[in-house]
Amino acid sequence: MFIQSKLPNVGTTIFTVMSSLAVKHNAINLGQGFPDFPMNERLTALVNQSMKQGQNQYVHMCGLPTLRERLSEKVNTSYHCQINPDTEITVTPGGTYAIYTAFTTILQPADEVILFEPAYDSYIPNIEINGAIAVPISLEYPDYSIDWQKVKDRVTKKTKAIIINSPHNPTGVVLTENDINELREIVKGTEIFIISDEVYEHLIFDQKEHLSILRYPDLFERTFVCFSFGKVYHCTGWKLGYCIAPEKLMKEFRKVHQFNCFTCNSPMQHAIASFIEDKDQYLSLGNFLQQKRDYFQNLMKETPFRPLPSHGSYFQLYSYEGLNELSENEFAIQLTEQAGVATIPVSAFYKKPVDNKVLRFCFAKKEATLEVAVNRLVEFFK
Ligand code: PMP
Ligand code: GLN
Repeated sequence: MFIQSKLPNVGTTIFTVMSSLAVKHNAINLGQGFPDFPMNERLTALVNQSMKQGQNQYVHMCGLPTLRERLSEKVNTSYHCQINPDTEITVTPGGTYAIYTAFTTILQPADEVILFEPAYDSYIPNIEINGAIAVPISLEYPDYSIDWQKVKDRVTKKTKAIIINSPHNPTGVVLTENDINELREIVKGTEIFIISDEVYEHLIFDQKEHLSILRYPDLFERTFVCFSFGKVYHCTGWKLGYCIAPEKLMKEFRKVHQFNCFTCNSPMQHAIASFIEDKDQYLSLGNFLQQKRDYFQNLMKETPFRPLPSHGSYFQLYSYEGLNELSENEFAIQLTEQAGVATIPVSAFYKKPVDNKVLRFCFAKKEATLEVAVNRLVEFFK
């Protein structure tokens, strides 16, 4: 049987490639972004409790109503916005699904979508599977800022959407008020939608504030804002998240959602609906991960890697410029095989690979894990 591929240029995602290589070589996996420390036991107990209490059947198609109510209260407190839990929030099986559904809701063949590279690796396939055209714009190396003039130059009549991501994977860069104003200037008076990937909203450091699109009513009116519980509660394997969008947009989003997964697993929604009342759990995240970033950076001083700034997310980029002439991909493989430490080559986040000699390290790990990994790197460079 012949399948005409809908994604002819796509292979296996780099996260799976590097994680498999890490397993094969018994390497410490600082590649794929996931914590190796345990999640909160009270939350797992709540899931257990909801299962035992029989909360095991379908919940409402748009997500458990109490969870949506609490999410509306949460974003109201965090971002001073009024979100209707009945019409503007949908619980999804993860942030990636929310982004895919948002694209599928709005895109028609030949539409253009502006995105910033390095970009999370699902964006371009999500755009292309809908017959639309990805328009990548490189962030400015080495600070990975956005050159907004470049964005203005790439907007056409076919521009259907711009996708932003802050705090940013893989760079840890955080959007500023100036970025928000530039974005506002560009979309004002147009029909351009925004997809705002805010899965790392609470993983933000150095007293920076997360500028959620939910803070700006004039931008929110055209935006699908996507979140992930996996990042907030250290349970990436739960694959649970949500999308917030104005009613008119959400109505169409739900049409796509209802015939794809229809509804997400119920015990976890019941558990999170009660756990989310403990605000400290997410408000303390920034400090918790900043300490890990600093701990890791401090250890890494013993290696010849040079850090680039990271103000959020799970990730820290390191440059190895001047150390060797290997491509990022080659060096990431060599480090996995020979040093026993897996990372992600940043070139994997570009459509046409750009090789700045930079690797992405995930520091959302136990201190002991970070210590062993860095010791191995130190040994490797001896
Ligand atoms: N966007 C970005 C930038 C991410 O790093 C992730 C993490 N995988 C996601 C979206 C989606 O998260 P998930 O689907 O696991 O909830
Ligand atoms: N978000 C995580 C990362 O960037 C993992 C996502 C995935 O494996 N698809 O590494």
